[in-house]
Amino acid sequence: MTDKRYDQAMERLKENNVRITPQRQIILKYLIDDDSHPTVETIFHVLDKTFPNLSMATVYNNLRLFKKMNLIIELPSVDGGYRYDFYDHPHLHATCDNCNKIIDIDDPEFVGIDETLKNETRSVGFKPSVSSVSIHGICKECQEKLALASK
Ligand code: ZN
Ligand code: MN
Repeated sequence: MTDKRYDQAMERLKENNVRITPQRQIILKYLIDDDSHPTVETIFHVLDKTFPNLSMATVYNNLRLFKKMNLIIELPSVDGGYRYDFYDHPHLHATCDNCNKIIDIDDPEFVGIDETLKNETRSVGFKPSVSSVSIHGICKECQEKLALASK
């Protein structure tokens, strides 16, 4: 798979003198392809089927590294854990408080707001990395389920 997003992410790792390992590559590819904002457990269990030598610690360490490189963001989950998102452009998140689903909301205006916020924080000597905005509520599927349950 050659993908522009993947190539750019690899470039970022190389610029930072990060060693490229097969594990690193598959975890990164997985994060680029999966837009469901998976947990570390999900990432591990899916990849473990194809790469039996992978360990949970390796997944954790790579997520920490990708986060440090500003390639991914860590989103607090309603259930107390964390969810991971390949974040190559600023976007909003809608989080369902019933099923914990996180949906991407692309808003071109948010890209501008993100830039303004970063510039403002830089002007007070802050070094911004990423911005993240989550809107909480109930997803369409859960609204239907909950309506049925109350009948
Ligand atoms: Zn839901
Ligand atoms: Mn997202």
